[in-house]
Amino acid sequence: MTVRLVIFGRQGAGKGTQCLNIVNTYGVAHISTGDMLRAAVTAGTEMGTKAKEVMDAGGLVGDEIINGIVAERLTEPDAEGPGFVLDGYPRTQPQAEALLNILAAADQSLDAVLNLDVPLEEVTARMKSRGREDDTDDAIANRLALYEQETRPVLDFFDAQGLLVTVDGLGSEEEVSCRLIAVINDQL
Ligand code: AMP
Repeated sequence: MTVRLVIFGRQGAGKGTQCLNIVNTYGVAHISTGDMLRAAVTAGTEMGTKAKEVMDAGGLVGDEIINGIVAERLTEPDAEGPGFVLDGYPRTQPQAEALLNILAAADQSLDAVLNLDVPLEEVTARMKSRGREDDTDDAIANRLALYEQETRPVLDFFDAQGLLVTVDGLGSEEEVSCRLIAVINDQL
């Protein structure tokens, strides 16, 4: 069985943790563009060096770069066979359209688009307490504002296609995981 998912949620909503639960349940590849970019920064590649400035300011890395990275990643065997959960992508309308084109070209489609919903005040508090290097107050505010501006329309886009399911992200890790898995099973 191949499972192809996208998970949305404000930064700090617990997407990363819940992705691991999804990976353990379905054996899919966890594709986090944030993780891939941070790896490129650590490796000191040219792309990583350029991306770091944008990431430090809480901005978005260019669509063309991100779409290229994801298209390449989706052709790797662990994503081709069992499927994937995309985390942090697509973040803009052009990215959403690119994803659907990439999948359609490979005769594939998404099973579900999940919206892990945690209120703004709660994610702000969570991000401030995790103390990551790119989690300055300005960067947090910038990323949350960008989420509303750029990503909200992407949610609406997937909603219009009948793919979006909103899941309450408040509660224990296990409670949220059970909710997500019930919703995914329902869509398969
Ligand atoms: P994340 O770990 O998903 O919060 O991503 C960390 C940072 O990487 C973001 O604040 C952006 O600067 C950048 N980034 C990650 N994914 C994307 C994407 N799909 N499009 C543009 N920039 C991204």
